Amino acid sequence: MIDGSVVVGAGPVGLATALLARSRGLSVHVLERLPATASKPGSRAIFLHRQTIQTLATASPALSDQLVSEGLVWPGRTTYWAGRQVHHHRYEPVPPKLAPFVSLPQPRMEELLREAGMRAGVTISWSTEADEVVNEDASVLIRTAGGREWRSAFVVAADGARSAVRHRLGVPMNGDTTGNAFVVVDIADDPTRPLPAERVFHYRHPLAAGRNVLFVPFTGGHRIDLQCRTGDDPALLATDPHTWLRPLLPPGHACEVTWSSHYLFRQTVAETFTIGRVLLAGEAAHLFAPFGARGLNSGIADAAAAINAIVTADTDHRALADYDRVRRAAAERNRAAAGQALAHLTATGPHRRAAQRAAAVAAHVLHRAGTWLDSKPYGPRDAGIPGSLY
Ligand SMILES: Cc1cc2nc3c(=O)[nH]c(=O)nc-3n(C[C@H](O)[C@H](O)[C@H](O)COP(=O)(O)OP(=O)(O)OC[C@H]3O[C@@H](n4cnc5c(N)ncnc54)[C@H](O)[C@@H]3O)c2cc1C
Repeated sequence: MIDGSVVVGAGPVGLATALLARSRGLSVHVLERLPATASKPGSRAIFLHRQTIQTLATASPALSDQLVSEGLVWPGRTTYWAGRQVHHHRYEPVPPKLAPFVSLPQPRMEELLREAGMRAGVTISWSTEADEVVNEDASVLIRTAGGREWRSAFVVAADGARSAVRHRLGVPMNGDTTGNAFVVVDIADDPTRPLPAERVFHYRHPLAAGRNVLFVPFTGGHRIDLQCRTGDDPALLATDPHTWLRPLLPPGHACEVTWSSHYLFRQTVAETFTIGRVLLAGEAAHLFAPFGARGLNSGIADAAAAINAIVTADTDHRALADYDRVRRAAAERNRAAAGQALAHLTATGPHRRAAQRAAAVAAHVLHRAGTWLDSKPYGPRDAGIPGSLY
């Protein structure tokens, strides 16, 4: 019996949950399906907002210092329409402590979270797959397929999009999958042919046969998102990216692809985030299209709220219900914000397409038109979640 909590999943949300639990004096144990040495296939998240870094700083100032010193803050952003610049913005330099965000590959974030967790006394059972979950009167029983058991006061399920815990407890996901495919590729920096260290969005890139292309720098490389068109084969574009990538890079660029994938993005939210003494967090609870970087940032907001609920549950009988109410409402708003970004990118309907074309024409005389084109691919900055951006 563990008097504190078990966290299922040592992804970034599970690791953050465990770290935040330790900082509140809870004992916590993490169960992870994969071995400690497994390299996870995806690179995925890169953008951590200051709000997230500040949340992590409450548990480990050293971790937030590392994220800020290793992460990249891109100094500006530029937007093009069919090869013509329609907007450019340079950020005022700020001291590292005030960095508005950092851009760092997810595997490195997870290493730093894991090290901070170890320093704080988080324990992890690797190669341990939670299979059965039973809510009891005042505890939760977790059993692995091999028959090992853990009993704890609470469980936070941070076991990702295919959450076994959520399935076992019979919680459906509500929402849908987008029709448009995206190919996402990471390339390593080539110091001899540097790309701009800026975030650059191209509407209708002339060298990508008029597709939308987003470049996002991170420490050590660039993320490139290619928006597929009807008739594209996303699997082929992801497995053989060099053909479409090379024309987008400076001549002679090494074009070393470090990761590639393709997606139809899901926009789904779990029907409830609290089942007895089990709290769902991160992708176990919600999936958003990544434009606006709401997935992991909101997962860490879930982690902080879940630990608050657990800490106060003894004295506040509504704490777990409030977790469900507040974080599920946040997820629905995050999904709506990501949905707005998607709707803009896919420009369904003649009105949206006409508005974008008109803004592109107006942008060379009307700054506001360029700003509009620049901001829309990421959705609203403030999704209307009380007290949180995510
Ligand atoms: C292309 C792309 C770009 C993105 N960019 C961003 C971004 O810039 N910023 C952002 O905020 N978000 C971003 N996201 C979203 C972000 O990647 C996810 O929200 C985040 O990785 C989810 O973390 P998690 O810990 O909830 O899940 P996961 O990372 O999936 O971790 C789940 C863990 O649980 C383990 N597990 C699974 N089942 C079990 C079991 N039964 N027992 C024990 N362990 C189990 C898994 O092995 C895994 O380690 C992006 C997503 C995509 C697809």
